[in-house]
Amino acid sequence: MEGDKTIFSMIIGGELPCHKVYEDDLVFAFLDINPFSPGHTLVVPKEEARTLDKLSDESSGALGRVLPRISRAILSATGAEEFNIIQNNGPNAFQSVFHVHFHIIPKMKDGRGLTFPFKSSPIDHEEAERLAKSVRELLD
Ligand code: 5GP
Repeated sequence: MEGDKTIFSMIIGGELPCHKVYEDDLVFAFLDINPFSPGHTLVVPKEEARTLDKLSDESSGALGRVLPRISRAILSATGAEEFNIIQNNGPNAFQSVFHVHFHIIPKMKDGRGLTFPFKSSPIDHEEAERLAKSVRELLD
């Protein structure tokens, strides 16, 4: 384990609430609090590494194994057919939480999703819980 405790460790540890969509021994995934589009999900290794280059092979493998599966469930739950995955490392590369994470961002037909310059809006908790439940069921 390497790195500092961040808000994501508190979410993984259950000390802070989230709309969880997936968990296994090494990986935890939940909806972003400030989504670019409904279903915007953060896929996080439980290991406390600050950036991807610091992550162990074991956690890297676990992330790679589940990213496509979680992406498929998010597409099904949102109805989106396209999506972006982004992964930021370092403050000048737009990282704001210093615990490795992958963003899965559905690109909706109405244009919501990743746009340049980046534009997000606060989460709608009711819609988020309905979506998170649907993704969880698809991943069971
Ligand atoms: P970064 O800029 O580091 O790549 O992305 C960090 C992401 O974490 C942002 O999209 C931000 O909205 C999200 N985030 C920050 N704090 C929280 C939180 O407490 N809960 C959730 N669900 N997401 C968070």
